[in-house]
Amino acid sequence: MKIFECDHCHHALFFENNRCEKCGYLTGFSVEERNMLSFDPSVLVMTSAKDEKLFRYCANREYDVCNWLIPFEKGERFCAACQLNRTIPNLSDRQNFQKWKKLEVAKHRLVYQLDRLNLPYVSKFKNTMDGLFFDFLSRSPSHNRMTGHSSGVITILLEEADSVHLEKMKSELLEPYRTLIGHFRHEVGHYFWDMLIAKDSESLTEFRAIFGDEQKDYNQALLTYYQSKYQSDWKGSFISQYASSHPWEDWAETWAHYLHIMAMAETSFSFGLSVNPLLYEPALQGKIEFDPYETLDFNLIFKAWFPISFAINSLNRSMGIPDAYPFVVNSAVLRKMRFIHRLLFKMR
Ligand SMILES: [Zn+2]
Ligand SMILES: [Zn+2]
Ligand SMILES: [Zn+2]
Repeated sequence: MKIFECDHCHHALFFENNRCEKCGYLTGFSVEERNMLSFDPSVLVMTSAKDEKLFRYCANREYDVCNWLIPFEKGERFCAACQLNRTIPNLSDRQNFQKWKKLEVAKHRLVYQLDRLNLPYVSKFKNTMDGLFFDFLSRSPSHNRMTGHSSGVITILLEEADSVHLEKMKSELLEPYRTLIGHFRHEVGHYFWDMLIAKDSESLTEFRAIFGDEQKDYNQALLTYYQSKYQSDWKGSFISQYASSHPWEDWAETWAHYLHIMAMAETSFSFGLSVNPLLYEPALQGKIEFDPYETLDFNLIFKAWFPISFAINSLNRSMGIPDAYPFVVNSAVLRKMRFIHRLLFKMR
């Protein structure tokens, strides 16, 4: 994610801002322009301060869960990100409402990133076959749905947005890192496996050579994984223990981490971050001088990102909080990420 600025007064804006703290102009994100735009709040029609185009806010602005803009002439109620919602929680329940807000922050960041990667995403309302839907549900005796993906429908349980639940799951599942954005990135990885790999024999052959044969019984593989109490020797070949359960999970986990790295690399580039530690080790010096989404060679991105991630982890430790990126990317994982990066570049 980039850092943005108000195009009326140049004050810095976060992606989620719907108002400029300095000049009071309304602000919102335009996916068409991949930028934040500013609007004079004293004028009834939202005319962008930059180029006088007309916009309206997504209908979910009313609940303060979306600041995306829709070009006026489109005549749509919901923005491209909110059109993906099929089920949202009952808004009269205050607790669920707060959790939904957190889910929307993560979802909008995900959709921004899909857009940066030029990945196609469209609501199932518009494309029943290949579209995508999100169901945000609370756990209930009336259904047995869990956080997961099935045929273009991504379910995220609302309790994932509960910090107590997150901490409990971290220790139960031996996961050092469990976040909402991580869930979104993982589950959408399963969706794009269906879209990009399953439908293309060349990519499928290459996938199997790198990740293994996904035709082995998925349910049995997960059962074995949970029964073996996660003792498999995974550290040399996988990004996480869970990735070792089945090639599909390896793909989704690696995909999520690829998106983590790209997102951090873009932020670093946007801030002009560079690190030059007081050490002899040159591998820990780095600067991201290029937009990672426009860079063909993933090795370059990784090499420049690694020292910055190391510095961010060190900063977090100074504050007594967990590492931002508590993982080791070994050469086997790097190979998998290169495959994903190449695949996405090929599609452009
Ligand atoms: Zn401003
Ligand atoms: Zn929206
Ligand atoms: Zn999965």
